Amino acid sequence: MSAIEMRNIVKEYGDGFKAVNDVSLDIADGEFMILVGPSGCGKSTLLRMIVGLEDITSGDMLIGGDRVNEKAPRDRNLSMVFQNYALYPHLTVFENIAFPLRLMKGISEDEIKRRVSEAAGMLELNEHLDRKPANLSGGQRQRVAMGRAIVRQVNAFLFDEPLSNLDAKLRGQMRTEISRMQRRLGTTTVYVTHDQTEAMTLGDRVAVLRRGYLQQVASPRELYEQP
Ligand code: ADP
Ligand code: ADP
Repeated sequence: MSAIEMRNIVKEYGDGFKAVNDVSLDIADGEFMILVGPSGCGKSTLLRMIVGLEDITSGDMLIGGDRVNEKAPRDRNLSMVFQNYALYPHLTVFENIAFPLRLMKGISEDEIKRRVSEAAGMLELNEHLDRKPANLSGGQRQRVAMGRAIVRQVNAFLFDEPLSNLDAKLRGQMRTEISRMQRRLGTTTVYVTHDQTEAMTLGDRVAVLRRGYLQQVASPRELYEQP
C-alpha cells in the first residue's frame, strides 16, 4: 500500500484557473519524494492539499489507504516544515518542539521530556532547550522546526523549501542531517525544492511539475545525469 496516493487531483481557484491539473502520483512507504518545477507550477498548492490546508477541487487524496479529502489537517497526522520556520517566538526551544505533543491526549510530562530530549539530541539542540527563537541562529531555528516535525510519529513529513533561507555551508550540513534523520526514522517524505543538489542527494524519486501538470517522475540519476 502507498503511504500517499493522489488520484487525478485538480485544484481550481475561483477564477477557473487550474493550479494543479489531473495529478496522479503514488508515494511508497518510507520513500523520499522530491517535488520540483518552475515557480508557479503548483508545488506548494499540491503540498497544501496533502496537508489539508487547501481544499481539493476534484480527485482523491489517500493517506495510508484512507481517503482524506474531507479530513481536517490535525486528523491526517502529518508534519510540515516551512521555509520560514513558523516557530512560536514566545515559547522556548523545548516548548516549541513539545508543541505537537501538548495537543495529544494522555502523554505524561515524563514522556514529553523523553521525546523532546530524543528529538533535540538528534538535532544537536540539547544545549539550547531554554532559549527563545530570537536568540538562535538561522540554522538552529530550522533545527527547532525539524525537531517539532519529528517529535511524534507521523504518516509523512512535508517540507516546503526548508533550506532556502540558509547560507550554502549550512544548507550542506542540514542536507546531510535531513538525509540521516529520514533514513533513521524511515518516515515517508515529500520535499519541495529548487535546489538540484538537494534533489540529487536526498531524493529516491523526483516528480517534475509544469503548469499544474505532472510532467515526469524519475530517479535523480535519470533526471539529472546527461548521457
Ligand atoms: P509553486 O509552489 O510551484 O511556486 P503555487 O502552488 O504557489 O506554485 O502556485 C501555483 C499557481 O496557482 C500559481 O500560478 C499561483 O499564482 C496560483 N495561485 C496560488 N494560490 C492562489 C490563490 N489563492 N488564488 C488564485 N491563484 C492562486
Ligand atoms: P494559518 O493561516 O492558519 O495561520 P499558516 O499557513 O500561517 O496557517 O500556518 C500553517 C500551520 O503552521 C498552522 O496550522 C500551525 O500549525 C503552524 N503555525 C503557524 N504559525 C505558527 C507559529 N507562529 N509558530 C508555530 N507554528 C505555527
